[in-house]
Order: sequence, then structure tokens, then C-alpha cells
Amino acid sequence: MRKTIVAGNWKMNGTSESIRALLDGITAGVPVVDGLVTLVCPPAVYLSQVKEQLGNAPVVVGAQNVSAQPKGAFTGEWSLEMLQDLGCEYVILGHSERRSLFKETDADVADKVDATLTAGLTPILCVGETLAQREAGETLAVVATQIDAVVQRIGIERFASVVIAYEPVWAIGTGLTATPEQAQEVHAAIRAQLTGSGMKVADKLSILYGGSMNAGNAAELLAQQDIDGGLIGGASLKADEFLTICAAAAESRK
Ligand code: PEP
Repeated sequence: MRKTIVAGNWKMNGTSESIRALLDGITAGVPVVDGLVTLVCPPAVYLSQVKEQLGNAPVVVGAQNVSAQPKGAFTGEWSLEMLQDLGCEYVILGHSERRSLFKETDADVADKVDATLTAGLTPILCVGETLAQREAGETLAVVATQIDAVVQRIGIERFASVVIAYEPVWAIGTGLTATPEQAQEVHAAIRAQLTGSGMKVADKLSILYGGSMNAGNAAELLAQQDIDGGLIGGASLKADEFLTICAAAAESRK
């Protein structure tokens, strides 16, 4: 059975005090279920604090981005070695905010996925279409192109260690959510694409949905056959809401 992953992307939010309180709330109620991974991705400057506070709690830590460069004169960046040093296990890559605001290209994202796998961390590769692309009927082609750029770079064998997050850009932070049917269609298409590219274990790949997932819509989304968890922004900043999503994810494994 595939892993179910509930990942909180805290983006650029919080202070040491509010993050401590949020994490206290999450660790107080996080479900422990075989095959369910609960992940938090704080701002990089709070990774150490979060890791230390977690201790042995059943929550893993990830970063929201990383440099593909190993070290050197890259002011403002951080490396995979640093993330390893801090005990990070996952890295979100190619988030639509990185692609649109920081101009990351498919090639940049592929470099980062490659470097992350080489370092032994798990990349969460974000893909998704804009509203204009959806309305033009280009959703599956756009997502396929974003994924293929990474497949071409790393090879299909190594793709088995990647997690995908399908995040329609129009649903991120907007309160709009893909319907379960819309999301399921794209998730199934991604799995079929990877099988078509020669991946023997596409049925084992975790594909998360992201885009205004919340306590009210999580259960229905997570019940879809090809949806293996969520990448959650806004709703991950409230412990009770995040825990409701975690509980729905635990339920979806039964
Ligand atoms: C995200 O940032 O990946 C995300 C899905 O945000 P939100 O849940 O707020 O739409």
C-alpha cells in the first residue's frame, strides 16, 4: 500500500513563539497509523527549533526549498547538507510560488530534485496548472510537461523515490478547491504517464493533492483512489484544523 502523507507548508509565517504553540497543538493530537506520515515544513530559520521541540514525536520535518548547489558563494541560500544536518527528511520543490514569484523553471526544479535525491532526502515535486491553462483544456499537458522535465533529468528508475503534489495554481491560497473528481482525474493521469514512461512502480508512488485543502473538504478528497495525502498551506497553521485533516488521512487508510 502507498504511504499517505499529510504535509503542512507553513510558508513564510510564524515567530518562534507562535511556532512553538502550533507544534504543541499538533503533537498533542497527531494520529499514529501505519503508513501515515505527518510532515511539517516550517520556514528554514525555524527548522532547528522545530526539530528540537519535536524530540521523538511522530512528526517529520521538511524544508520548503533548497539550493541545488553544494556550497559556496550563494548568499541567502541553504544546502542539502545543511538540511541533512538539521534532520530534514523532505523538501518541497517547484511550488507554484517558487515558479511564479522566484522564476524557477522546470530545469531548475529538475536540478533540485536530482540533488535532493542524491543527498538521500525525499523531494515533494509540485506540479499544477493555472486557471487560464485549465480553461484552455491544457491541464493534463501542463502537468505532464512539468513531470517529464524531471523524468528526463533523473531517469524513470530514480523517480520511484519522488513524491508528487498536484496543486492547481488557481486553488492555492484562494479558498477554491478542485472537486474530488477533478483532482482524481489528474492524479490518475500522472500515474498513467509514469507507467507509460516505463515506471514499474507507479502504483506505489504517493501523489498528494494541494490547494485549499481544509478540515471540511479533506475527507472527500482523500477518499479518492489516487489521492495519497495533502500538501496544506493555510489550514496547516491551525493545529485543530491540521489535526482534522490528519484524522481524515488516517481514516482513508482503513
Ligand atoms: C500550498 O501552499 O501548497 C497550498 C496548498 O496552500 P493552501 O492550502 O493555502 O491553498
